[in-house]
Amino acid sequence: MRYLSTRGHADRKQFCEILLEGLAPDGGLYLPESYPQIGTEALTRLRDVWQSQGYAALAFEVLSLYIDDIPRDDLKALCLKTYTPEVFGTQAIVPLKPLQAAGHAQPDLYLEALSNGPTLAFKDMAMQLLGNLFEYELGRRGESLNILGATSGDTGSAAEYAMRGKAGVRVFMTSPNGRMSPFQQAQMFSLLDDNIHNIAIEGVFDDCQDLVKAVSNDLAFKRKYKIGTVNSINWARLLAQVVYYFAGYFQATQNNQEKVSFTVPSGNFGNVCAGHVARMMGLPIDRLVVATNENDVLDEFFKTGVYRVRGTNDTHETSSPSMDISKASNFERFVFDLLERDASKTQAIFGEGLSRLGYFDLSGDPRFVRAATVYGFDSGRSTHADRLKTIQQVFAHYGVVIDTHTADGVKVAKEHRNPQVPMVVLETALPIKFAATIVEALGRQPERPPQFDGIESLPKRVQVMKCDVDLIKAYIRQHCD
Ligand SMILES: *Cc1c(COP(=O)(O)O)cnc(C)c1O
Repeated sequence: MRYLSTRGHADRKQFCEILLEGLAPDGGLYLPESYPQIGTEALTRLRDVWQSQGYAALAFEVLSLYIDDIPRDDLKALCLKTYTPEVFGTQAIVPLKPLQAAGHAQPDLYLEALSNGPTLAFKDMAMQLLGNLFEYELGRRGESLNILGATSGDTGSAAEYAMRGKAGVRVFMTSPNGRMSPFQQAQMFSLLDDNIHNIAIEGVFDDCQDLVKAVSNDLAFKRKYKIGTVNSINWARLLAQVVYYFAGYFQATQNNQEKVSFTVPSGNFGNVCAGHVARMMGLPIDRLVVATNENDVLDEFFKTGVYRVRGTNDTHETSSPSMDISKASNFERFVFDLLERDASKTQAIFGEGLSRLGYFDLSGDPRFVRAATVYGFDSGRSTHADRLKTIQQVFAHYGVVIDTHTADGVKVAKEHRNPQVPMVVLETALPIKFAATIVEALGRQPERPPQFDGIESLPKRVQVMKCDVDLIKAYIRQHCD
């Protein structure tokens, strides 16, 4: 399997080459040259693998269709090491929970639990694999990597928990000092591993991002200190997420003639893009419903054909903060497919077009309607008031407490239900991570998994720093030499 750039660069690369890279050299995103097709027989075999051997074996089967430059035994060992009940909390790894009201013959919806990993958000599903892949590939090459990132919560902690103790990898993670929830701070700052560095910047999240950009733009420094990232455009992260669409499908159906729809709480379009890939492979997915919060860039596109990047003043701070985005960094992958893989058109609208105009408009393009008709996309948005109401209703009807992001999903899923087709909502975080809103909705604290008892009082290691590029470079130098 070889990979190409959405903007038409002539290079074709192998999986391990793009594993440690971010964007393609022309600024595009990597995609496989074609999607491997899963016919009826292969789907039956995969269902059998899932049922008899479980998630890790299923992950190996799916990943091996896309990765041919890691020996199969090694890839299998990496999957088995990653997806264990010890790390992900249950034997099923991604158990499906029916939401069924008393007296109803069928569940109204299903929740697919993706958030029982170490940081209680779905990003662990991909990041844990990435940690093991990085360690493997860096070891093979005899290289090392320093991951520099900026986080306001979920991504940074998922990256740190995935990379802790991994040979050849160091993490330097900046976050805005004092602005994460106490739980999130405790999660990150209580990691005492030598290769994990938490840097609390005196400023806001944008300051952290600007610092990371400034360091990465110093090409000499970047090369010398082998600075890399783990952001959501990484193809390996997306690929790891394809697997749980298969696992969700097998749990919601009895046989391969049935279809399933998924609703996905979305920000950067990484999660639902993995659903698109699964559907392109032939997994019988009916609809892929994109749920946004008040930051509705994506809902606007699917409704109107206009994609309009938001400015800083236009980006809302919401109670589902991991979906607070101004642009959706993975969206280019889907648009490339929608435009029948027309790289020059993709280059024109995402390259100069977007940076000059701040938007593009496909409403007049005959291919736009295919987003819904051929690719199965629907969308909806949710507000703080909807979120509170949904959390209350789900608790009242089913006795289940859901987090704020999952609530956005449930709200939108209800608007798109078809009684003939099971609807699976991806549960992207556990409520304890966003306790303040749960208390606002239900008047009580969410349940805390026992392994997190008392984490706020654990010893912490964090370096508070002024927002200054030279200071952070000096810090990196000091800890690499
Ligand atoms: C990151 C995140 C999302 C959004 O996922 P994308 O892949 O960026 O669309 C949704 N919910 C939670 C809890 C997250 O951490």
